[in-house]
Amino acid sequence: MNKVLEIKNLKKIYHSKETETIALKDISFTVYEGEFISIVGPSGCGKSTILSILSNTLDKSSGDIDLNNKKIAYMLQNDCLLSYLTVLDNCLIGLKIQGKVTEEDKNYVINLLNNYALGDFINKYPNSLSGGMKQRVALIRTLALKPDILLLDEPTSALDYQTSLTVSKDISKIIRQEKKTAIMVTHDINQAISMSDKIIVLTKRPATIKSIYNINLSSNNPLDRKKEKDFNDYYEKIWKDLDIYE
Ligand code: ADP
Ligand code: MG
Repeated sequence: MNKVLEIKNLKKIYHSKETETIALKDISFTVYEGEFISIVGPSGCGKSTILSILSNTLDKSSGDIDLNNKKIAYMLQNDCLLSYLTVLDNCLIGLKIQGKVTEEDKNYVINLLNNYALGDFINKYPNSLSGGMKQRVALIRTLALKPDILLLDEPTSALDYQTSLTVSKDISKIIRQEKKTAIMVTHDINQAISMSDKIIVLTKRPATIKSIYNINLSSNNPLDRKKEKDFNDYYEKIWKDLDIYE
């Protein structure tokens, strides 16, 4: 498998006037092409910090990030859809900001919208979409940039439980079918196991890597994965790793 991202000894210290917060102490891992990776860890341990550094919106303090010339895109939350733009124009906004929307780009996006049950909504506005549909639009908007690696930060945390299950299934299916590499941050162990090939468990802050699990389940459908015999074993191991009282 091809390496698409290598992170070595990543460290991040936030400085303010009086205090220093060590968010990341020492984080190293490798991501291979086509992998779906989840990063789980206690609240405030530094998960979002990793994604901000990877997306270049935050400077690291030290360490190496080797992207092998791959393109990264951050999936924003669905509430970042613009209410006055159609679904299609929302999906094209990233490309517009970069100053280029070719006919090919447009067709690519229209195809994605058609393939993922949004064909009837191409010229509708976000207020006519359900929460789950909005999240699919947010994902297609990110795919429009043709990234090699997608970053997702708690993509279902604003949704109710039922919708969150559906959206997890949709995200997993779309990312696998489009053969993208993904790094998702979540506090939800069930979600991580049901969607990922590999799970990186972080310690509490300052974050280091507590453990890495390769998830070997036979289905790629999150809802079916939950029924598999080994699912609970993974859950219990990760839950133990996350033990906040240790
Ligand atoms: P997580 O996503 O795992 O909940 P974050 O990466 O958001 O955690 O934050 C990790 C730690 O860094 C937290 O203790 C948080 O308070 C601190 N932190 C985050 N952003 C800043 C900032 N801009 N300035 C100072 N401290 C920050
Ligand atoms: Mg966070």
